[in-house]
Amino acid sequence: MVLTSTATHPDEKDQSLNSTFASRYVRDPIPKFKMPEKSIPKDAAFQIINDELMLDGAPRLNLASFVTTWMEPECDKLIMASLNKNYVDMDEYPVTTELQNRCVNIIANLFHAPISEEETAVGVGTVGSSEAIMLAGLAFKRKWQTKRKAEGKPYDKPNIVTGANVQVCWEKFARYFEVELKEVKLKEGYYVMDPAKAVEMVDENTICVAAILGSTMTGEFEDVKLLNELLTEKNKETGWDTPIHVDAASGGFIAPFLYPDLEWDFRLPLVKSINVSGHKYGLVYPGVGWVVWRSKDDLPDELVFHINYLGSDQPTFTLNFSKGSSQIIAQYYQLIRLGFEGYKNIMENCLENARVLKEGIERTGRFNIISKDIGVPLVAFSLKDSSQHTVFEIADHLRKFGWIVPAYTMPPDAQHIAVLRVVIREDFSRGLAERLAADIEKVVKLLDTLPSPLTTKVAHITAITSETSEKVKSAIETQKEIALYWKRLVDGKRLGAC
Ligand SMILES: *Cc1c(COP(=O)(O)O)cnc(C)c1O
Repeated sequence: MVLTSTATHPDEKDQSLNSTFASRYVRDPIPKFKMPEKSIPKDAAFQIINDELMLDGAPRLNLASFVTTWMEPECDKLIMASLNKNYVDMDEYPVTTELQNRCVNIIANLFHAPISEEETAVGVGTVGSSEAIMLAGLAFKRKWQTKRKAEGKPYDKPNIVTGANVQVCWEKFARYFEVELKEVKLKEGYYVMDPAKAVEMVDENTICVAAILGSTMTGEFEDVKLLNELLTEKNKETGWDTPIHVDAASGGFIAPFLYPDLEWDFRLPLVKSINVSGHKYGLVYPGVGWVVWRSKDDLPDELVFHINYLGSDQPTFTLNFSKGSSQIIAQYYQLIRLGFEGYKNIMENCLENARVLKEGIERTGRFNIISKDIGVPLVAFSLKDSSQHTVFEIADHLRKFGWIVPAYTMPPDAQHIAVLRVVIREDFSRGLAERLAADIEKVVKLLDTLPSPLTTKVAHITAITSETSEKVKSAIETQKEIALYWKRLVDGKRLGAC
């Protein structure tokens, strides 16, 4: 009897017998440009991707980010169960739609929107604050254009007044939707928008002044109350009607709990819309954000689309059509699970850990603390003496301890100030704060023993220069020798010719 040799390679015959790492799928080069011809087993695909991802930083040690890195396992279950639900199918998933509306109502009430108990607030869930800001900006632009058209005035040069400390999404809005961004410059020691200077910059083409409740750079809250006062005066004098938007991406879920008496929201009459990132201190994984308007009058109706092909009439005002439902459901979970009490506890704890870290950093005696005690719980600090070492070297060395701490320069006109920033999130515990402070001290001491890269650079340049001049010198000598040789040769020939 002849044995036919049609048996497949053992690798392909019984996957479970082979070591994953010895199978040919994991040994082959990873496809990077073209889709591979053949399928591979699911466990091999998992292993390949999982292993490469091990080299990403650990999210919970990523102190650069305001975005949530930890949620309760109960909420993870809700998230996983709704991964296959498209949010836009409102008629098919009416309960999910209802949960988003409840979130909008709760947030609008938290921000003191002038609505009665049963009234539905005007707002929408977005992918994050960036989308929320695009929508708010478009509403201001359209309102301004409609008014200018009715007055028979030009409406082709809209502008927004902000501080130079705005987050990049405002620059994106300005460029994508053709609105000029007029930025109030910062100065050393003052890193937020000066309300008086902002109001000075307002003109008839200003569609809104954008204030930030928690500056990305330092966490500091801008003085929205003063802005509201000054702008009210200017509006009275000029007859304009310039409104305010508050970018409360991080501060929107901090101020109501830690500083309930601080007036920054719809309690101020000129504040017409507010955005907040659900995935920052709203305590939800990325990406979810919210924008709420003061009233229906502040959201021009022509921007709202009505779709009915999924069933009943559904108003929508978003940039994308389809998106996941999980984050909206998770936001509702956090709002009812934690309640006011829970958010307050968490924010107080963040503030306390920021204080512990700040004191540890101050104890080294090497840093100026740039962040303020009132604001987003973060510690921003710069070197008192940066003649030998820089904050960028400190960030590099902290990486070796596992910490990801960003270092950056401030916006104009404070570009000469470079800072390190640690954002304190819910899952950054007291123990970690103490360890980080100790590690920063270790790095500072280590740097004292290392040559300054600045002096090293100068020494390097001096070495190159002296090496070059040696070479030039010897080249000149060689030239001279050659010239002499020729001269002698020619002279000799001349002599010989005589
Ligand atoms: C984070 C942030 C944004 C952008 O928010 P995303 O939710 O990441 O899109 C905008 N403004 C400020 C002040 C922020 O801190």
